[in-house]
Amino acid sequence: APRIGVLGLQGDVREHFAALAHCGAVPVTVRRAQELDSVDALVLPGGESTTISKLLEVFDLLEPLRARLRGGMPAFGSCAGMILLADEVLDTRSDAQHLSGIDMTVRRNAFGRQVDSFETDLVFAGLDEVPVRAVFIRAPLVERVGPGVEVLARIADGPFAGGIVAVRQGRVLATSFHPEVTGDLRVHEMFVDMVRAG
Ligand code: GLN
Repeated sequence: APRIGVLGLQGDVREHFAALAHCGAVPVTVRRAQELDSVDALVLPGGESTTISKLLEVFDLLEPLRARLRGGMPAFGSCAGMILLADEVLDTRSDAQHLSGIDMTVRRNAFGRQVDSFETDLVFAGLDEVPVRAVFIRAPLVERVGPGVEVLARIADGPFAGGIVAVRQGRVLATSFHPEVTGDLRVHEMFVDMVRAG
């Protein structure tokens, strides 16, 4: 079974841990470079992206993580994790670091105050028999994707209709929402399959 790290600096680490274990992976908490070296892939949880970014620097994980991503390590980021995986981030602090795992521009807290948390059903490419129930919590939106990036899901209706909320580039996957909190394991299964396919 693949050893899949969950970046354990801040955020909803436990939920990802449980989801990965249910999918047959061996989850490993990653807080230091040696732990990162020991895993086949990494999940970046939801939480607060500027805090996680700061802690990546404090724990000397920023450069090792960038190096693993450049080397082709599969990764999955939800919400704050998506922000961290972006090439470019709008509405963030100027000193926030990002990892450039996906050629995309992401806007933090893009849904605004009125709807800063909501749930909706999404048509998700590859999981299209049943819609994916998506929980958004002060979520980002993807505003630009590069040519190598596959859009997997968009908001269906309402003021944000068409907004991109799930993407994949190679073996790096990111969602604006939190599949780890719904009990629907299909997005994690997709990721574990991506890791196994490597
Ligand atoms: N708003 C948070 C951020 O900017 C993300 C929220 C989340 O991960 N649920 O990092």
